Formats: sequence, C-alpha cells, structure tokens
Amino acid sequence: MADIVRNPPDRGARIDGADAPSPKVEVYLDHAASTPLRPEARAALRSWLGEDGAVVGNASSSHAAGRRARVAVEEARERVATALGAHPHDIVFTSGGTEADNLAVKGLAWAGAESGRRHLVVSAVEHPAVRDAASWLADAQAFTVTWVAPDADGTVPVDAILDAVRDDTAVVSVMTANNELGAVNDVATLADALADHPAALHTDAVQAFATLPVDLGHLRVDALALSAHKFGGPQGVGVAYLRRGVPIVPIAHGGGQDRGVRSGTFAAALDAACAAAVEAATLDRAELASRLPGWTDRLSAVLTTLHGVRRNGPADPARRLASHLHLSIDGVEGEALTFALDQAGVRASGGAACSSGSARASHVLEAAGVDGDAALRLSLGWTTTDEEVERATALVPEIIAKLRAGEAVT
Ligand code: PLP
Repeated sequence: MADIVRNPPDRGARIDGADAPSPKVEVYLDHAASTPLRPEARAALRSWLGEDGAVVGNASSSHAAGRRARVAVEEARERVATALGAHPHDIVFTSGGTEADNLAVKGLAWAGAESGRRHLVVSAVEHPAVRDAASWLADAQAFTVTWVAPDADGTVPVDAILDAVRDDTAVVSVMTANNELGAVNDVATLADALADHPAALHTDAVQAFATLPVDLGHLRVDALALSAHKFGGPQGVGVAYLRRGVPIVPIAHGGGQDRGVRSGTFAAALDAACAAAVEAATLDRAELASRLPGWTDRLSAVLTTLHGVRRNGPADPARRLASHLHLSIDGVEGEALTFALDQAGVRASGGAACSSGSARASHVLEAAGVDGDAALRLSLGWTTTDEEVERATALVPEIIAKLRAGEAVT
C-alpha cells in the first residue's frame, strides 16, 4: 500500500489533522464526530472569505456591503428551508447543533412556563446539548424532567414517551437518531400523537440528517436541530428549525436579529456554506444511505466473528443509521484501543462501556444496558471508500489481537 496521506482529489477532502501528517494511509471512520468539508461548502466559503471575495458586511447594515451579506443569509435560509420542506421564517442559523438544541429546549421550556407548564419529557439517551440543558432547567429553574429510558437497542419507545407526557408538559425532546448507537426513533409517530397536545416537540436530527430524509412539510415537530459539520458543512454553524407560531423565549439577548429569537451578527459565509452542504447532502442522501450499509455490515460481519465482539444498536436496519457501527469489545481497554487504531491511521471513536466502571462511561450505553470492556464506534460518510473499509477490516482485528496479547502496537 502506498505510504501517503489520503486526499481524494475528486472530492476535495483533506483529512489531515493538526498534528504532523500521519505517515500511514488515513482511514477516517469518525463521520459522527465531524465530516470532511464538501466541495460545495468549500466553494461557498471561498466565495465569501477567499482573498478575492468582497467585504462581508454586517447583514444588519444598510450599506451595500451589509446588503450583500443580508442577501447571502436570506438566500441560504431559503435554500435550507426548501431542502427541509419548511418555510424560510422557520429557519434560524445557529453556531451549531449545541446552540440549536439549547435554544429549542430552554426557549420552548421558558415559553411553556409562561402558561404554567414546567414539566419536560426527555429521552435518557439525548446528546448533552439536550440532556444537560434539561438537567439545568430542573436544577436551577424549578422545572421537573421525566427521563424516558430506551430499550436495549437504544431506541426510545413512543408509548413510554406518551405515558410520561402530562397536562403541564412544556417540551418533549427525543432525538431522531442517537449519536453513539445510531438507533433511530419513530419521531413521526410521536409527532402525530402529540399534535393536539400543547407540549412542544423538539428533535435533535444532528446525526440523522446525512442519511435520513427530513421533510418538515409532513413531520409535525415544533423544533429540530442540525449541525453543518455532520454532513459536509463547516464547523461552527447549524440550524434551528422553529415552527412559526410556536412560542419561544430567546436564550441570548442582544441586537434582536432573526425576529429577536437569535441575537448576534449573522454569519453570512458560514450560513451560505451550511446551505450548500444541506443541498449537497440532500442530493446524495439516498445514494449514500444505500451504499453505507454494505460497508457497515461487512465490517460488522468480520469483527463480530472475533471472540468477545458484539454489535450494538437495533437489529432492524430500518431502525439504525446506515452510517453507524457500534461494537462492544471485551478484553481491551477503550482508550487503548482508539489510541492504537489512531496510531495505525484509523480514526474512530471509542469510550468505555458501563461495565468497565470507568468514570467516562457513556450515559447512552448505561441507559441501554450495553456491556463490554470497550466500545468502538465506526461511523462512515460521504467520503468513505472501499479501500478505507478494507483497511479497517484488516487492521481492527489485528490491533484487538495485539492489545489482548499485551503486545505493543506501533
Ligand atoms: N447533537 C448530537 C446528536 C450530536 O451528535 C452533536 C455533536 O456531536 C451535537 C448535538 C452538537 O453539535 P455541534 O457539534 O454542532 O455543537
């Protein structure tokens, strides 16, 4: 195998990190953490921020530079709205998924409190952006939260959510798909069931968007969060879909941009790049979603033949993200495994499973009762190649064997 850092010219993806370039072929299987920038998003950034670009004014300024930026923001908003089947007024650009989740959970909770509703229903497997926002509302703001446990495969039962909803429920928050196990929830059924309830329904679709369609013309949620860097956009920009007419209290005060819902100078270049990534991801989603399971299944088939390696998450392919493969691995330590994989050029996410008793045990794995000494998440995406999958298929068993034998991995 050639001794190069992979940089596919056809896709414009550079995958070199901050460290000195790896001498090994790089296998990037951590798309759930962040994805390589799509050429469409890069072109949008270049056109706004490149050396030849015109001044990006403040989109709230009335002069020509400001008006140019404003046009970029509004065009981006429209393009995102079209791709999501939403109205442009419902689209608010944020600094990422974390802000979009915080805006939805806190903003909708505070609005509910104004009419006496101070109860939240939140799944126990939410990303910390939702989970910690809800915990903080309970700890510091006199809300109460009912946490709904997932099934053993990580999916959250709709019935259990509905059973937890009360007359004073302000917000229900259930992620479209889980970032660790890739478990997909039936948010559409939940949304239909809650349609006549005053509680606002928020879904974090950050992990789902790359491979699952989002059609807000039909999905009756009140709020939805996206993060551009999870589907080929730049880091630092995301989308909060906030359905018109649903009361929301802003979480930040300032210049009153975006109808006062999200103060702060518009990030024209990032918004344009986010819109470009949303469109590109929407265009190739179906093809990607049909291509990835062959690879995740191939990896799973090879790795689960090893003693003490189990696949986690839903068995039904329709209930799991095409991009995610989550494994429990006995007889190795999580951090040692991801470190050794990294040394070999394989970028993946790990973490200790709950049974290890590690302080870093994942709340998701704990809630789903997933055991094992180590957890390994391999997540694939738009730049994944056959070569990467084949290399991982060879390297991961080799490294597990070496770690189990106590051999050094170099
Ligand atoms: N929600 C989920 C499910 C995520 O996986 C992440 C990021 O890992 C976030 C929210 C936060 O998104 P961001 O990195 O854009 O703040």
